[in-house]
Amino acid sequence: MADRDGLIWLDGEMVPWREARVHVLTHTLHYGMGVFEGVRAYATDRGPAIFRLEDHTGRLFRSAKILNMPMPFDADTLNAAQKQVVRENGLDSAYIRPMCFYGSEGMGLHADGLKAHVMVAAWTWGSYLGEDNMVNGIRVKTSSFTRHHVNSAMCKAKANGHYFNSMLAVNEVSADGYDEALLLDADGYVAEGSGENVFIVSNGELITPDLRSALDGITRRTIMTYAQEMGIPIREKRMTRDEIYVADEAFFTGTAAEVMPIRELDNRSIGNGRRGPLTEQLQSRYFDQVMGRRDDHAEWLAFV
Ligand code: PMP
Repeated sequence: MADRDGLIWLDGEMVPWREARVHVLTHTLHYGMGVFEGVRAYATDRGPAIFRLEDHTGRLFRSAKILNMPMPFDADTLNAAQKQVVRENGLDSAYIRPMCFYGSEGMGLHADGLKAHVMVAAWTWGSYLGEDNMVNGIRVKTSSFTRHHVNSAMCKAKANGHYFNSMLAVNEVSADGYDEALLLDADGYVAEGSGENVFIVSNGELITPDLRSALDGITRRTIMTYAQEMGIPIREKRMTRDEIYVADEAFFTGTAAEVMPIRELDNRSIGNGRRGPLTEQLQSRYFDQVMGRRDDHAEWLAFV
């Protein structure tokens, strides 16, 4: 990743990719106290467009507030920076990574004088969990690692340190040949995937875990908006893993993962064992949206 051509926005300047470096004593590298976003831009007939840019930037600011990190730039500046990295790297479609982190101004948990820094990078990234799986669905396993308790981590924040738990879960299940992990909360109820929200379809109803210990996903919100518009009943509630075993359909949502069918959980085939009909409908509506093929919600696309 570090050795490639291109430009990265760092603290207000466009810096050559290979020179966008930090010191080994970077505070966030040691303690994980930082916030970030994962955003995507898609190729449309009118050029690259960033999907729900302002919503992602809004969450970045809320994450910083939760961690009490002073954000050194305003939202307009960071929105412009995200457009700029796509444009100046000549990308048609991109994954965009803004991150706010503490620098190497001090060490230790009590460090004074830390400064928050912001970087924004963008690169081409295809389907996160595999193009074929978009049709066939992925194989998921419940992780033995528990998702964060609401009082040990702040689930409304997309914070760097949270992803240590996600990586334990992913590494555990991928070593056994599964595509993705499902994490349960501290009470044993379904929380989310390592980087996705989860939905099931049961008797024509769309059901998703409430946000007690899951990230308030922007793709989750998009799908819930579609369900309302399509007249599909939708419910947020506590969910058990066996509700997924017996669901008619299941899928993950996330900016990186997009709308990804789940064909199997814990070696139980879900529904028809492949992408379900409602999953397919929601997935194609989502792709039509992000690629600018729908007139509705035009405000969700920010052209670069
Ligand atoms: N949960 C977690 C833990 C995530 O990392 C993500 C990805 N940001 C999501 C859910 C989905 O969020 P979004 O749809 O906003 O990408």
